Parts: sequence; structure tokens; C-alpha cells
Amino acid sequence: MHDDVVPVDAGGVRDNRGMQTWRTTTRLPLAVDALAADEADPAVARLVAAFGGAPASVEEERLVGEPPRRSRRLRFASGGEILLQDGIVAAVTLHVVPVPGVPRGLDLTAWLGAGDDTLDVLRAALGTRRGFGGFGTPYFVLGEAYARCDYRDRRGWNESGNLLALTVSLEQPGRNHQPDTDFCPTCGDLLVRGPGDALDLEATVGTLAAAVADGRLREDPSWVPLSDVLPLATSGLMERVEAHLTCTTCATVLCLTLPRGGAPAVARTSLDRAQRRPMGPVPPVEEWGDEARVAAARDAMHYVDHEPGAWFLVEERGVLLFDARYVVGSMADDSALVRLDEGELAAYRAGGHDYLTALARRIHDGSPHREDSVFRGRDLYRGPDAERLRAEVSAAIRDHTWLAAQRRG
Ligand SMILES: [Zn+2]
Repeated sequence: MHDDVVPVDAGGVRDNRGMQTWRTTTRLPLAVDALAADEADPAVARLVAAFGGAPASVEEERLVGEPPRRSRRLRFASGGEILLQDGIVAAVTLHVVPVPGVPRGLDLTAWLGAGDDTLDVLRAALGTRRGFGGFGTPYFVLGEAYARCDYRDRRGWNESGNLLALTVSLEQPGRNHQPDTDFCPTCGDLLVRGPGDALDLEATVGTLAAAVADGRLREDPSWVPLSDVLPLATSGLMERVEAHLTCTTCATVLCLTLPRGGAPAVARTSLDRAQRRPMGPVPPVEEWGDEARVAAARDAMHYVDHEPGAWFLVEERGVLLFDARYVVGSMADDSALVRLDEGELAAYRAGGHDYLTALARRIHDGSPHREDSVFRGRDLYRGPDAERLRAEVSAAIRDHTWLAAQRRG
């Protein structure tokens, strides 16, 4: 029943007293029963009938990912939507506001017995546990399934009129990839295919790079940069070359994988799952990069040393930058990036690694997130160049992090 993964409520009280009234007082069981069913299954026929019985007002189909799956989306004039992946129901969406093919929103009172669409009223109507899949994505647990609530701008669930849709699937929001993102207008259709629907790898790398350049996708610096993927794969030095690109609309992570001697693949997954994928360290650029790439690497930030779980030392054109982790509270931590000053440099030259561990402890105890911290003003992650520095530090330490150790297996 996924009890282990439902976060505590905002009030700090874990609600396990759900009465599961959704099973008897709402029409949601029609959606839940259709999940994972074949299109010909009677459960799907019952859902279609509940959506008005008529043929879908809009039917779209596309190939998604590589190897591709065939995703079909059926939208009904009543506000219902069924998403099929290779002929199996993967998600059912109840549109509360009009979308293409859905001229009016679904009647919440008829479907859920809820007088309005605020989270508290929905919760009372469904009588089941609630969770949050990251910030701004509340969901309800419906037995083995989840009903994700999409509110306008991912907020505003305390006032009525902000619910856009309710999507029912077997995938837990925040943890697992959401099947309805197959039709994300930003990332659902970025792969380029040639004759016989075969993936055109070079053209696909080009469209992905364009999407990174204009902000539709964000490149994860902890994996291989998109621009290095093809030369690294050609070199044959890595068993798997993998780049990760996150959709800025739906948060899907596109994992482009070039296995040595195998066909390229593009998996669509959640951040949580993406971080568990395997990859070895990237070999030195001199072994696979061209002259320009080697020259660029010389000017780029370099890893120097680290203490697991505590700090990283990097160098950029002769300047030593110190990334020290600190704890913000019981649930969160962050790190500060400090340029070592003259005194610290001298102490580092004398004391080496141990001095840096002591310095990291001072920064941690100095709570850089507090207004009165002596390290707050020195924290480059709070400065105007923060975004670039975070990305460059992440790239520099890519093969030395805890995550890197995990993906090496
Ligand atoms: Zn997307």
C-alpha cells in the first residue's frame, strides 16, 4: 500500500486514517480498474462509456522514446482522456478545464461528489491519504494507484477554481515518471526519425542541443555533456555514454544512452530513477577529444580533492574554490562555494586535506544560510554567477560524487 513512501502532511501529521470513501462515493474506480488493461478489456469499455460512450473527439498517436513505444491519447468531449502505451492503458485524466478536444471541463460533482476543487474538499470527498510529489504536486493514494492533482501554476489549491486536471496512473508522482508526459508539448516529440522510423542519432543530438540552448531542456552537468556524447561514443572508451536532459515543462529526464557496440536509446524517466542509472567515469579528454575540446578542458574548472560527504576543492585558472556542504535543517542541506583567501591558502599549503576538513567544519558551523553568518557574504552560490558556478562545479566533480560511486555500481 506504499505506506513507506507517503510523505507526512504539511501539518506534520501522517494521515493513515483514510476511509477509502473514493471506492464507493466517486467514479474513480472506473479509472483505476482500467489501468494496465488492454484496450479490449471490459474495464476500458466501462470507462469509455462513462466518458460518454461516443468515439473520442480527438485521437493522437506518436512514437515516444527509443526504442519507441506507440503512445495514443483519446480525448472525450466529456472531459475524459485515456492514454495508451502500446495498447495498454497507462493513465486516465479528468480534465476540469477545457483543452483541445475537450470543449468543457469535467463535472467534478458527478465524478467525485466534490462541491469544489480545493485540496481539502477533494480530500474529504475521496477519503484517502494525500501526498506531495515534490513541490506543488499533491496527489491521492487510490489503492495501488495515484491521482495526481495538477493545479494552475502548481499552487493555489486552497482557493477554488485552480484545479486543471486529475490524472490517475500506477506511477507515484515525484518518484516515478508520469505516463501522460508522453504528450508533453515540450519534450514528447524531440527525437528525429529516418526511414522505417529508425532514430537519426546525429539529428536527434542536434534537436536536443537546440532545446537546451533555448531553455526547453536543462542539461544535467553530472552526466556527459551533450556535445561530448558522439566523440566519446566513437572513441569506444566507455561502456555506456549517457547524457541527461530535464524537461523544464514536465520534469521528465531524457536519458540518451550510447552503449558500446549497441543501438542508441532514449529513456524517459523521473529524476529519482535517472540518478540510479549506471555509468562509469569519463576518460581524460586527451584520449577522445579533438584539439579544440582539449584546449577548452584546459580552461575549464578542475577537480582537485574532496572529502566524501563534506567538501570538494576545485580549481579554475589558478583560483582555488572550496565547496563545503552544510546542513540547513533535519530535511535539507546545501553547500557554500568559497574562494580561499590568502590566510586559508597558506593554511592549506601547510595543512593540506586535514586543514580543508577543519575549514569545512567551520563553514558548516557558521551556517552560511543565516543572515549573520560570516560565510554568507563569501558564498559564491549566493552571488550573481551562482548558476554558472553550480553547473561548472557539478561538471568538475562529476566522477567523484556519491552519485558517481553509485552509478559505477
Ligand atoms: Zn516535458
